[in-house]
Amino acid sequence: MMTPARVTRLALWTSAFMLAAFLGRLTIIDDQALSLMWPASGVAALWFLTGSRRTWALDTLALTLATVVINMTTGAPGQLAVVFVAANLLQAAVFVLLFHRLLLAVGGADPEVAPLPAMDRLSDLGALVGAAMSSAIAAAVVGWTGLWWVLGSADVQSLVAWWGRNAVGIIVITTLGLIVRPRLGELRTRARSPSGLRVMTGMPLGRLLELALHVLLTTAATAFVFWISDPGPLAFILIFTTVLIGVRFGPLVVGVHGLLLAGVSVGLTLAGHGPFAAIEDLHWRVLVAQMFVALTSITGLVLALHRQEREALLARLQVSQKAAAERAQLLDAVLENMHEGVAVVDADDNILLRNTAGRRLLGISGAAGPRLQPLAAYRLHRADGTPITRADLPYVRALAAQDSVRDDLHLMPEGHGPTKILEMSARPLPELSAGDLPRAIVTYRDVTSDRADRDSLASFAGVVAHDLLSPLTVITAWSEMLAAELDSDAVDAAEGRACLDRITGAAGRMSQLIDDLLIYTVTRDGSFEPADVDLSALASDVAQVHAEAKSEPVIHIQPGLHVIGDHLLVRQLVDNLIGNAVKYVAPGVGPVVSVAGEERDGWLHVTVTDNGIGVPDAHRRRIFESFQRAHAADYRGTGLGLAICQRAVERHGGTITVAERPEGQGSVFEFTLPAAGAALDRRTPVTARA
Ligand code: ADP
Repeated sequence: MMTPARVTRLALWTSAFMLAAFLGRLTIIDDQALSLMWPASGVAALWFLTGSRRTWALDTLALTLATVVINMTTGAPGQLAVVFVAANLLQAAVFVLLFHRLLLAVGGADPEVAPLPAMDRLSDLGALVGAAMSSAIAAAVVGWTGLWWVLGSADVQSLVAWWGRNAVGIIVITTLGLIVRPRLGELRTRARSPSGLRVMTGMPLGRLLELALHVLLTTAATAFVFWISDPGPLAFILIFTTVLIGVRFGPLVVGVHGLLLAGVSVGLTLAGHGPFAAIEDLHWRVLVAQMFVALTSITGLVLALHRQEREALLARLQVSQKAAAERAQLLDAVLENMHEGVAVVDADDNILLRNTAGRRLLGISGAAGPRLQPLAAYRLHRADGTPITRADLPYVRALAAQDSVRDDLHLMPEGHGPTKILEMSARPLPELSAGDLPRAIVTYRDVTSDRADRDSLASFAGVVAHDLLSPLTVITAWSEMLAAELDSDAVDAAEGRACLDRITGAAGRMSQLIDDLLIYTVTRDGSFEPADVDLSALASDVAQVHAEAKSEPVIHIQPGLHVIGDHLLVRQLVDNLIGNAVKYVAPGVGPVVSVAGEERDGWLHVTVTDNGIGVPDAHRRRIFESFQRAHAADYRGTGLGLAICQRAVERHGGTITVAERPEGQGSVFEFTLPAAGAALDRRTPVTARA
């Protein structure tokens, strides 16, 4: 379909071709059929290059008509017009085909995706020059044969001249066209803006002045070389000015410079001026001038493109260097802020990387050496206490197995410090380049308290299971007994009642244990909301309940004791201590308990003193652990009460101990809590564990 845009395109290219062909025909001399210059070859190449399969049929028709019209109007015989049509078409077709092929061959764009390059790479220029020279050979051979056929004779000189003028036409015009093409839109937007030349060209003022200087210099040089004095073969001066422009400006300026130089030089050479005027034969003269201009322009372009590519490469390099540096910084920051130790070690024991946590966990002070120290220096042991060998090292095992390895190693510090358990994981790293030594990444962390927690949780669960199981066994046994009684018809009410009492008692103990377990969990992990607590009032409240026991205890409480703490936790603490004080008395002894307090250094030291059976020396520390009991045989209990007290006190940052009562039989339990008025935040509450 002929859209208005296509019609405009066709009209513009046809006019441009006709103008160029007309100018070319003006350079016919000596009644010869051949023009000395043929800019139309460049226009045709560009015309077909910017077209596509859809436009080529009409383009061919228009180019044929235009060639015929121009040849007729400039007096060429009809047969010659046919030859020119064939040569022009063949040249355009070969050029388009070769250009795309060469672009692909030198790694250029896929013609389907990006049909035309912007001539901003040396490879684009190479492909264009190659295609121009080759397509000009095709046109010259066909054209020259045609000439010979029409005129009956044709000399070799005109074959070379044909090739030269066509190749130069394509190189100069097509290159410039391809350079200008992508910039047209840009220039159009700039042209619409109101401000001056600087905005139009996008060049800063300094560069514009420099360009003006170059224009002056080139004009002066061209005038000197070609016109003013005809001083002899000084054409090389123009090479120098072109090189200067190529070094300082981009392909666009160099391309325009080339076109202007071509026009002026060939025109003046034709008119008999300049260094090439000495060449007798006019064809040779103009051909040499054209070749000179084409090669000079290519030189300028090569320099400009080379510089442009280098600058683009440098810019890319800088961007990727910056990105790499930022990435490295980020990775460093991540590594240094990790709690886990990270190290990369190769098969030769070289440490390629190790973070600060990695050194700290292994107890290495100062900068790490580049190699692993002798194994003994790390004091790493297996769980059974035997020192590890190199083959035990996780990274050595990971490299040998080509798989990840995880292990707990025990680090025994110098002196008598506690053993640290390190969980170490190692995994082989993929090879970055062939020939690299195998490497593994090792991550390690301190799991001492995790492992202790795990162990204590396991024994805790074991004790819970055992303590729940024994009343359950009692319940089962007495239930079976009761069932047997019921089966034998003679049921004795007293025996039945005794069975039921035992069953109820065992169920009560189970329920007490479950209650204590719940309280223990809440004390350990429940919410913690510190506030001013009236400890005396709270203890009196608790005491009232215990005072109702059969043993008729007497409980004294010092008034005016205040602490800062979590009300529920403090109540649990006081309740357990007073409860124990009332419980653990010798048979027949009336319990006497007193709660007193004294403030020292911001802490209230509270003592709960009783006249009970006391705690044997060996048990004084252990009774604060869960399920530890000193008088299991004679007194009922779960062994969780004091563990709950310890957790409650620890969460306030305080301590709890037991001592023998100084005067007479009994014990003194002493705990500390933040005194009222003291800032609680000075004592970070301890997060208790199982
Ligand atoms: P439970 O009272 O359920 O056995 P606790 O954790 O409260 O558990 O106490 C642990 C052990 O400490 C008790 O079994 C007992 O032997 C001992 N104990 C606790 N309080 C007293 C006390 N006031 N006098 C003597 N012994 C005590």
